[in-house]
Amino acid sequence: PGTLYIVATPIGNLEDMTGRAIRTLREVDLIAAEDTRHTRKLLSHFSIATPLISYYREKETQRAAELIEQISGGASVALVSDAGTPGISDPGAILVRQARAAGLPIVPIPGPSALSAALSCAGLDPGSFLFLGFAPAKRAQRRSLLQSLKTTPYPLVFYESPHRIVSFVKDCAELFGDRVVLWAREISKLYEDIEETTLHQLAERIDGTKIRGELVLIIHPGTVSQPAGETLDEILCWYRDQTEL
Ligand code: SAM
Repeated sequence: PGTLYIVATPIGNLEDMTGRAIRTLREVDLIAAEDTRHTRKLLSHFSIATPLISYYREKETQRAAELIEQISGGASVALVSDAGTPGISDPGAILVRQARAAGLPIVPIPGPSALSAALSCAGLDPGSFLFLGFAPAKRAQRRSLLQSLKTTPYPLVFYESPHRIVSFVKDCAELFGDRVVLWAREISKLYEDIEETTLHQLAERIDGTKIRGELVLIIHPGTVSQPAGETLDEILCWYRDQTEL
């Protein structure tokens, strides 16, 4: 059989395309793309003439079956999404699962992702986090998700679209309180805007404004209060201080 390559592409800056991604996209028989018009621009920039087929969310199951048949017959196929790494809040999972079930080789071609880019400048220690992707679009569902994450001791990483970001940040500020947040907008693009602030400041700043561009939010965990002190006296004193606050 052939091979299924999962190829990461730039999230805004074409210079981030890796040499291996270019070579793979040149060498495969077929590229399955989330949006062929979008990917055609990328391919023409790198003078890649490989045939393209569409592979988008609504058609995943049907297309996956067709692609598995082609790979089983010896074709090599590369999957790309509009930006970043396929399978991370992007189509890809169904194809990968079917390829694995069919015993076909699956090879990742690593590269850009908004997730790793935002995390790389968040300074998280020790580096563990919870990735939630896009929060639900419906407000009630979103708030109940946030409510359920309130006491999680891990930083929370969200993708969000510009038209929902204002209400999302407001909900976070209301439900989580004033936590530290990393705002990473337009990563690798001309108007890259990466800033650490707090949820309240951010909610105030973006209220009523029109946000453009794509963004990632990393919300730090709330402070978990643990008794400070070693002797019994010190711990009792700490509890007294807490109740007075
Ligand atoms: N698979 C992609 C990846 O690996 O990053 C993510 C695809 S998801 C459909 C698109 C979301 O990723 C955007 O709404 C935004 O949250 C985030 N994103 C993509 N490009 C970005 C960029 N240049 N700057 C900030 N966030 C970005």
